[in-house]
Amino acid sequence: MTRDHHLREDKQAFLVTLKQRGIRDHRVLDAMMTVPREAFVGSDQAEFAYDDRPLQIEEGQTISQPYVVALMTEAMQLEPDDTVLEIGTGSGYAAAVLSRIVEKVYTVERHRVLANLSQERLANQGYDNVSVLCGDGTLGWPEHAPFDAIVVTAGAPDMPQSLVRQLVIGGRLVVPVDAGLHQQLLRVTRTGEEETETEKLGGVRFVPLIGEEGWRDRE
Ligand code: SAM
Repeated sequence: MTRDHHLREDKQAFLVTLKQRGIRDHRVLDAMMTVPREAFVGSDQAEFAYDDRPLQIEEGQTISQPYVVALMTEAMQLEPDDTVLEIGTGSGYAAAVLSRIVEKVYTVERHRVLANLSQERLANQGYDNVSVLCGDGTLGWPEHAPFDAIVVTAGAPDMPQSLVRQLVIGGRLVVPVDAGLHQQLLRVTRTGEEETETEKLGGVRFVPLIGEEGWRDRE
C-alpha cells in the first residue's frame, strides 16, 4: 500500500474518532476532513498525521491533538461570515481548519520561525483568507478588531483582558486557563460592553501562553 493510501484510510478512522468523541458540527468535521494535517508537520511526522495526539513541530512547540482542535473550533460557535483571531499559529494547521469555515482568519505567533513557516505553508496551499502576524498574541491584533470569535491555543495564567475587549458584543473567546495541575478550557461570551459569561468546557493541556498578558518569558 502507498503512503497516500495509508493516510486516506487513517483519515477515515480519524473522522469516526472525532464523531465518537462527540464532535457534531458538520462544518467542523468537513473542515477537518478537507485540511491535510500531514502538510503542516515535518516529513518525519507525516505518517502520524491522523493519530489523535499532538505532534512535535519546530521551536519545541506542538501541533495540537486533532480532537482538541475540533473541540475548540466547535466551541467557537462559528458562522460563515465571521472574522476570527487565533493566538498561537504554531504549524498553521488550526488556522487552515478555521479558514474552511469562516470568511477571514487572523493568526498571531510569537516565534518568528513558526510565523514564517506557517505563512509559507498556508500560502503555498492556497489558504488565501488567512493572515499571519509575528508578535505577542496576548495583546490580540487591535488593527483588525473586533472579532466574532477568538481562540487561544496555548495555556494562559488567567483571562487575557485585551482579547475580551477585542470581541464584538456576542463574540466568543475560547481559551485554556490555568487551574492548578491542569488547564480548564473556557468559553467567555462578551454579553455587553463590560459584561461576560463564562462556561467551563473541560480539562486540557497546552504549552504556555507567553507574553505581556500571559506567563513571563523564561527562554
Ligand atoms: N494552533 C497550532 C497549530 O495548529 O499547529 C498549535 C499551537 S501550539 C499548541 C501553541 C503555540 O502558541 C506555539 O506555537 C507557541 O509559540 C504559541 N504562543 C505562545 N505564546 C504566544 C503568544 N503570546 N503569542 C502568540 N503565540 C504564542
